Amino acid sequence: MFLSELVQPVTVLKGAGPAAAAHLARLGITTVADLLRHYPREWEDRSRRVPMKDWNSSAVCTDVTVLAHDWIFGRARTKTLKIYVEDETARACLICFNQPWLQRQLPPGTRCRLYGNFSYKYGDIQSTDFEIEPLSAHGAPSAEGGFVAAGILPVYPLTEGLHQKSLRKLTRLALDAFAPSLQNELPDSIIARDRLLSKSAAITAVHFPASQGELAQAKQTLIYEELFFLEVMVGRRAMARKRGTGHDVQRVSPALNTLQQNLLNRLPFSITSGQAAAVAEINADMDSPYPMARLLQGDVGSGKTLVSFLAALKAVQGGGQAALLAPTELLARQHAESAAALLEPLGVRIAFLTGNMKTAGRQQLLSALAAGEIDIAAGTHALFSQDVTYRNLRLVIVDEQHRFGVIQRQAIMDKGDTPDLLMMSATPIPRSLAMTVFGDLDISVIRDLPPGRKTIKTHLKMQSNVHDVYDFVRGELAAGHQAYFVYPLIEAGDDDTDVADTDARANSFGLKDAVSMSRHLAQNVFPGFPLALLHSKVDDDEKRHTMEAFRRGEIKILAATSVVEVGVDVPNANCMVIEHAERFGLAALHQMRGRVGRGHAQSYCFLVYASPLTDDGKTRLNVMRETSDGFVIAEEDLKLRGPGQVAGVEQSGYFALGLADPVRDAEELARARADAFAMLEANPHFDHPANLLSADN
Ligand code: ADP
Ligand code: MG
Repeated sequence: MFLSELVQPVTVLKGAGPAAAAHLARLGITTVADLLRHYPREWEDRSRRVPMKDWNSSAVCTDVTVLAHDWIFGRARTKTLKIYVEDETARACLICFNQPWLQRQLPPGTRCRLYGNFSYKYGDIQSTDFEIEPLSAHGAPSAEGGFVAAGILPVYPLTEGLHQKSLRKLTRLALDAFAPSLQNELPDSIIARDRLLSKSAAITAVHFPASQGELAQAKQTLIYEELFFLEVMVGRRAMARKRGTGHDVQRVSPALNTLQQNLLNRLPFSITSGQAAAVAEINADMDSPYPMARLLQGDVGSGKTLVSFLAALKAVQGGGQAALLAPTELLARQHAESAAALLEPLGVRIAFLTGNMKTAGRQQLLSALAAGEIDIAAGTHALFSQDVTYRNLRLVIVDEQHRFGVIQRQAIMDKGDTPDLLMMSATPIPRSLAMTVFGDLDISVIRDLPPGRKTIKTHLKMQSNVHDVYDFVRGELAAGHQAYFVYPLIEAGDDDTDVADTDARANSFGLKDAVSMSRHLAQNVFPGFPLALLHSKVDDDEKRHTMEAFRRGEIKILAATSVVEVGVDVPNANCMVIEHAERFGLAALHQMRGRVGRGHAQSYCFLVYASPLTDDGKTRLNVMRETSDGFVIAEEDLKLRGPGQVAGVEQSGYFALGLADPVRDAEELARARADAFAMLEANPHFDHPANLLSADN
């Protein structure tokens, strides 16, 4: 019997009536398997004595003598029992809310075993959160099934109306009835190799461990099991995509084709070795008979766009079309423009498609696309509108992939006949997530930045010293450079910000906003330097003019919201000032900082913050100051926010995990992945034994 097969309702257990069942259901527990997989959130170790005098350092676990009773009288004629107790180290009192019967059960002089959390109040060491049981004459607890004296006890997440004690009792019953018949799910070879527990022993010990050592071993076993089967699932998905070839396709020669070579010859620089390696991998994928599904990772400014253009040329040379999908119009337009500049001279035909094009022009474009007269279409979600058809869509490129949902990605893929897919992530994805959430994709990583880039100097500045920043930026502007100023709000009192970040949205009171600050900067701070305003509500034509003028250097200062977060590429801009930096998440800060440092000049990023900072806010700003490595920042972000907040996570089996945490358990995850992939290599039909069972039927 496998744990997942214990599908009988919890009501088969003695003591689980309809009322209890209803409570359990609220915790998502309906079957016995659910109950056994409702893992403790922590464990109370009552095997270790903690005398009363140490109440401050942990929960107290000691034997006491009852000294006296007293009553606290409240309003509405309520009274609450107060029991004074002492052990050999200190005296304390217990506030017995709704437990008047303890007066009879524990008369003065009774010896008891006590477990509780104490604090110092009204001159006493006191507790409202305790368990107490009388000791019998032999010194052992007398209450049947009493837990005070037990060893290590589980502490479960609860819901209203459900008590810790009853959940413990039910779990104990379920374990006694069902645990002995549980079969192992992990292969025996792995259990033996890693000295793990059997499933039966592990599931019992995770709830009621006999010792700390056993608890550790039980956790280790269950965590490894979860990660192993997660990776089995990931591996099977990858194999299904490659139609059973195993995960390492034989690489064919990844030589550049003529179009690609022509582009490289025209560039004023040579591609970095990271870019070259990524292109080689992409070429090999696109030559193979299986559709490509590749994630291109690289830090901000590592030159992913160029790699995607080279991939597009591969599709075009083969007689196909490529679609380059971007999340914002600003970015899509920028891609279309640089594609036009770089690729049109090679005879490649580029089009730009957005949601709000005039009907006539749009119709013409659509027919050209359908006729195959366009080779590369760059655009927003308009690229997969219902009425868009492609002659022969061979490659889909998704930039800033985290901005698109699964359904949108599928919609663009459906425009072709199993086209190749290249996804690009703006911010590096932590290794642990790459192995789980994106575990079934092939991954190319660009580790190097184009040569000559200088590390961006990052400074933290208190709001009150913002004038120093202004003075500094004025100097850079005078030297011919350009600057961005980013604000968390579009307009005062407008909580409809451009910030996807809930932190920034949380409380807009007293925040600087882009609209009023653009006026202030233009009139009072930087008179004489042309300035423009950019945010999501500026209309499209104006946005385009602004960006073109900024790119040409006619506009020196952009006062903006986080719309400049993604993609914007203007190498002459070397100052990024982010006001209320404490309001932005790490990923956004890193992205915005990545807008500078793209040229040869030294670049600067000023993170201007308003005190007081929260602990998280402080951590974020310090991380930004300490490092510019996107991979490090991604890991920190994950630590601060947890995987649930990291883009794309919801689509994985990630949340089926109970005890395992791919971030904390990154090392186990890597081993589990290797194990799982080796199993699949040896036997492509390998799967969770319960799945194999149902497949047989
Ligand atoms: P990201 O990876 O953040 O999308 P981009 O593709 O926007 O980065 O590239 C950043 C800048 O670096 C662009 O101005 C691009 O033209 C330039 N660039 C790309 N590759 C190289 C290279 N090999 N050498 C020098 N500059 C490069
Ligand atoms: Mg980019």
